[in-house]
Amino acid sequence: MSVSFSCHCEERRKPVEQRRWVVVTRKGNYSAFNGYRWASSAYSDVLCLFCGAIGRTKARFVDRLPDSKPGDLEANPLSQQAHEEHLSSRPTGRWAGCK
Ligand SMILES: [Zn+2]
Repeated sequence: MSVSFSCHCEERRKPVEQRRWVVVTRKGNYSAFNGYRWASSAYSDVLCLFCGAIGRTKARFVDRLPDSKPGDLEANPLSQQAHEEHLSSRPTGRWAGCK
């Protein structure tokens, strides 16, 4: 199970439209399960540009957030790393020993 979006910084106290949150992957995912092809999903990846928190959520505020711009993720190295780990997350066991 992926991590949920866990930003608890001051952005969360602002009205949604004023938060520095962007949608990295809107309502879907590129999953290792299907060879990194696009798969529609109820969940979106949201990035907080203020504290760098990133995670998946199906909260309705996603509809009111802008999409991320090129460079947003790269400007947050920790978020980028977390996102890549999320994308490459695999079920344990099935892929064990597979190199
Ligand atoms: Zn935050």
